[in-house]
Amino acid sequence: MVRGEGLWLWDHNDRRYLDLTSAYGTTPLGYCHPQLTAAISEQAGRLQALSSNFFNDRRAELFAALDRNTPAHFTHYYLCNSGTEAIEAGLKLAHIATERAGQVALKQGFHGRTLGALAVTWNPRFRKPFAPLLAEARFVSPDNADELEAAVGEDTGVFVAEPIQGESGVRLVDAALLSCAQELCREHGAMFLVDEIQTGFGRAGSWFASDALGLEPDLMAMAKGIGGGFPMGAVAMTAEVAGKLKPGMHGSTFGGSPLACAASIATMEVLADEDLPEQSRLKGERLLDGLRAGLGSSPVVREIRGRGLMVGIELRQKVAPTLAALQNEHGIITLPAGPTVLRLLPALTISDEQIDEAVTTITAVLGS
Ligand code: PLP
Repeated sequence: MVRGEGLWLWDHNDRRYLDLTSAYGTTPLGYCHPQLTAAISEQAGRLQALSSNFFNDRRAELFAALDRNTPAHFTHYYLCNSGTEAIEAGLKLAHIATERAGQVALKQGFHGRTLGALAVTWNPRFRKPFAPLLAEARFVSPDNADELEAAVGEDTGVFVAEPIQGESGVRLVDAALLSCAQELCREHGAMFLVDEIQTGFGRAGSWFASDALGLEPDLMAMAKGIGGGFPMGAVAMTAEVAGKLKPGMHGSTFGGSPLACAASIATMEVLADEDLPEQSRLKGERLLDGLRAGLGSSPVVREIRGRGLMVGIELRQKVAPTLAALQNEHGIITLPAGPTVLRLLPALTISDEQIDEAVTTITAVLGS
């Protein structure tokens, strides 16, 4: 692929594709949104990199934008360059805040590929080649409150979970289980770290999925959509957690560069101005309704699920041939989530016509 605009990608032969993945959910505004391109270009000519020892106007604006758009109980933000770094920081912050190393995570959860993030990532496919890890979490079933209650205790520093498990198949985690986890964390003095790396910034039909579920986590890991495609990660934390961090305990040389901040500010401006989190909710309903109407009786479809523009179609067969057929024969790009789930993470700017085109083509490919 050599060029992109909105939902469209072009390859080196100038063939056009409808991209329903937004580069793993990193480009919520679509490719090369004019406001984002202008912000990056303008900042690139003014100041690209700067040590975090100095005050920077863009960084200050970014903190203000994060304050406006993240849940009100978050007051401090750590800036880094990717999702897995945000998880590493979240785990370290929880350790510092609680002085405990114990970790509890959900089965099927995915949190990144560095060693700390791997320790709380469930699928052995990602962890086993690197065993023994520094520490491994206790994994509990996302649908079993008893298991959770038995796992969270006086030695637990952190409970970490995605509100919707993306990588393992777009699985919506029960809100009651997440509230129960939050209560258990409060009762035992552990930190609740929510991983909004895939679900955040409007993806799941609201700015943050955990907020829409009424949760108040102590720490929130963000990445992907935060930079509109520019590499960035962040952790939102309460003032209480921030107060435990001493200078030099954690840091990132590149984190929060003026260039990344400019990209993120512009992304959040467009998300807010165009009400894209709400658009994501409405368009997600159109997409889910269309897919359910078209594929409800398909013998190869087990379940269609999702929230906002984070949608999974679970098949009764391997997904790889469907991905290839959609891309090669129909010019539609989709993602797998595990071996049998077709995952859709389109840009939040997707039009109704593009949704209808996607529904018609996916229905034709899976219905036949
Ligand atoms: N957490 C979740 C929920 C993710 O979906 C991902 C990436 O797919 C990560 C963490 C890791 O993010 P990154 O690839 O930016 O390190």
